[in-house]
Amino acid sequence: MNFWNDAYRTRPPWEIGRPQPAFVELLRRGDLKQGSVLDVGCGTGENALFFAQNGFLVTGVDVAENALEVARSRSAERGLKVGFKQENALSLDFKGDDFDNVIDSGLFHTFSDEDRPIFTAEIARVLRSDGRYFMLCFSEKEPTGWGGPRRVTRKEIEDAFLPLFHINYIREELFQTRIHDRGGQAYLTSATKNLTPRLI
Ligand code: SAH
Repeated sequence: MNFWNDAYRTRPPWEIGRPQPAFVELLRRGDLKQGSVLDVGCGTGENALFFAQNGFLVTGVDVAENALEVARSRSAERGLKVGFKQENALSLDFKGDDFDNVIDSGLFHTFSDEDRPIFTAEIARVLRSDGRYFMLCFSEKEPTGWGGPRRVTRKEIEDAFLPLFHINYIREELFQTRIHDRGGQAYLTSATKNLTPRLI
């Protein structure tokens, strides 16, 4: 966890100082349910603040206190009310059925194979029935030469989410960073929490 806090001692490459265009587009298309949003792995909070500015009740969680400090001061500067809390996304301190939407910009792709099902179960738990999850992650089409987090395939997304979610779409998108000119090759996933898990 210190790894992440240390990453924010300088400005990390994913800290672009504005919301990810893929999430701005989600709002424009009306893909989110009205109500509340949890931003998991919110970093410095630009996506969380964007949704707050657009009428959602937003909570942002991250393990990195250095990132949360920046997020809180931006929130205060802009006069927005967002709860930024230090939390581990693999064991969230919420009672369950808490949020209408969860957004994830670059968190899922940091998890190991073992942590993926723990994470998806946590997301399903904190989402209300019919709640929606939106996730942006690097895809296998993004070259690995520059390093960065793991690349994720469509099948891996399906394997991780299908047991508990209905996948609405997995779309090719760009992930903006400060080291890409146009953005990295990514997938935008939209998934809805399954009301009735299939009995297999
Ligand atoms: N969503 C932000 C940050 C993406 S980088 C943005 O788009 O700018 C991934 C973020 O996930 C980092 O801020 C890191 O601190 C956070 N993170 C990593 N593991 C986490 C965990 N287990 N629980 C919560 N946050 C985590």
